[in-house]
Amino acid sequence: MATVKTHTFDAVIVGAGGAGLMAALYASRSANVAVLSKLYPTRSHTGAAQGGVGAALGNMEEDKWEWHAYDTVKGSDYLADQDAVDVLCQEAIDVVIELEHMGLPFDRFPNGRISQRRFGGHTNNDTQKPVMRACHAADRTGHMILQTLYQQCIKHNVNFYDEFHVVDLIRVGDSVRGVVAVEIATGDFHIFHSKAVMFATGGWGRCWEVTSNAHSLTGDGAAICLRRGIPLQDMEFFQFHPTGIFKLGILITEGVRGEGGVLLNGKGERFMTKYAPTIKDLASRDVVSRAIYLEIQAGNGVNGKNYVHLDITPETVNRYLAEDGETRRIDREYIEAKLPDIADFTRTYLGVDPVKEPMPIQPTAHYAMGGIPTDVDGRVLLNADKEVLQGMYAAGECACVSVHGANRLGTNSLTDLVVFGRRAGQHMAKLVQTIDLEPLPANAAAEVIAAFERIRHNTGAVKPYELRQQMQQAMTTGVSVFRTEQTISKTLDTLNQLRAAYQNIQIQDKGKVFNSDLLEAWELGCLLELAEVTAVSALARQESRGGHARDDFPNRDDQNWLTHTLCHKDADGQYRLTYKPVTLGRYQPKARVY
Ligand SMILES: Cc1cc2nc3c(=O)[nH]c(=O)nc-3n(C[C@H](O)[C@H](O)[C@H](O)COP(=O)(O)OP(=O)(O)OC[C@H]3O[C@@H](n4cnc5c(N)ncnc54)[C@H](O)[C@@H]3O)c2cc1C
Repeated sequence: MATVKTHTFDAVIVGAGGAGLMAALYASRSANVAVLSKLYPTRSHTGAAQGGVGAALGNMEEDKWEWHAYDTVKGSDYLADQDAVDVLCQEAIDVVIELEHMGLPFDRFPNGRISQRRFGGHTNNDTQKPVMRACHAADRTGHMILQTLYQQCIKHNVNFYDEFHVVDLIRVGDSVRGVVAVEIATGDFHIFHSKAVMFATGGWGRCWEVTSNAHSLTGDGAAICLRRGIPLQDMEFFQFHPTGIFKLGILITEGVRGEGGVLLNGKGERFMTKYAPTIKDLASRDVVSRAIYLEIQAGNGVNGKNYVHLDITPETVNRYLAEDGETRRIDREYIEAKLPDIADFTRTYLGVDPVKEPMPIQPTAHYAMGGIPTDVDGRVLLNADKEVLQGMYAAGECACVSVHGANRLGTNSLTDLVVFGRRAGQHMAKLVQTIDLEPLPANAAAEVIAAFERIRHNTGAVKPYELRQQMQQAMTTGVSVFRTEQTISKTLDTLNQLRAAYQNIQIQDKGKVFNSDLLEAWELGCLLELAEVTAVSALARQESRGGHARDDFPNRDDQNWLTHTLCHKDADGQYRLTYKPVTLGRYQPKARVY
């Protein structure tokens, strides 16, 4: 067997997006920390986040963290845990100021304060009208967060292992001992032995055909947890963002609608006035995505196709601003300054100039509300009794704390990363002072090395990219914006067949150096598992809530389903569901109207 190099740290953080870097920055103040990332850190998906980070700064108009909390709970369709939501919205204010002090170049209002824009579902609770809460740096907010945090980590001597692909968690009973990683450049396996491990590995939009997510978003951390006996929470809730570029899925930020952009159907009608009379185009994402689907189903797509228009041309926007009784007007220069990347994307990918003509858009698979269950300090929970797995942490999109419940509001992911990344980092730093480094089990990497060798030397007839495509098609037809028992069951049958076929895959590259063929085949195994967990969880939930819309159970059912799903994978490979109560608080569930 190949020699396996071992490295020792107090804490190992897997993932160098916003959540991983924020945790690293805090943990490294008093612990010896390594950050492992399969991508070069600044290529993490956080860098693609466009519209903003939500915090009730109230820089232009009145705002309160309690309003932010109410909007988040309502947006979540009452499935979020309200203790966690309070933490999110209170600490958001302080953490955004902290980012500014680190040097993040936010846009500014003329009065010099951080500029804020409107975003879906964020309101003045008294008037129910949209409020300016999304702090932004043009439409490159995530890029600026990532660059700022990375610079800070370098300044504070965080140890980076770039292009190290983590493939296993070393768990012994009720504690963790580290991770196993492949060094992508050499194909060598390494063990990172530590007292604490944190996963901040991002989402898994690549389970679907049309997605805003980068190629690398394959849910590795969540899948590894599942294999190591950690359940996954609320996996039936996956967000479809209303405005992806038609066919390509590339995201057009909700900031476009925040700046006044409107959705128009094939007849040129502003259809959101029907579905959300008060906040119209700025309703929650689940509501807007369903509205687009219904318009298309009713034959109101543009040119009879399955897309609608997003219009930010000054002419249209100013007409509707006047109709809504607003005094504000926009012009070409304003759009170019506030949405430069969006203007650039649509010119490049669509040949459409957004200041002159509307953009063709359709819903795109975007964000995992569910994931690895944690408490508000990022500690990973093993079951409905909230038993902690000692030393194991998760934060960011791969985690489920749960502040997003059944549907996340725009801008709340970036807030989640920095708030809960910071808390996890702080907690981890304290924990490693109080516990000893436990010994590694014998041959800690043997099992995963054997699994890799099987994939490398398999001589089956199945090509991984074909399986990937079939999985994405099955998820898109069966477990999408709308779903029924029939469509989910059919998808599950297909996924079962694909799981069997996966045993028979053959890759072309049998080498060691930069073997992306091998690593992508391994990632496909993660995606297949997460797709199955999503479908199994969705089939069981017989109601419609947030991002989970069942045509056969169209109503929300608080009597039976105001509960979190936990999906476990047992040793025999079977999935088992248990349920965990939702933590309520100030806001009791009521009908959700926008
Ligand atoms: C196009 C787009 C626009 C968005 N806009 C906004 C917005 O305006 N506001 C908002 O709040 N949210 C937005 N979101 C959502 C938000 O950006 C993400 O949810 C968030 O950035 C996820 O951050 P993260 O730190 O959890 O993970 P990521 O930033 O996705 O980083 C994951 C990290 O994990 C590493 N990794 C993964 N697997 C492994 C492995 N096996 N081994 C080693 N390393 C691994 C990767 O290398 C990477 O460093 C947007 C998302 C997209 C896709």
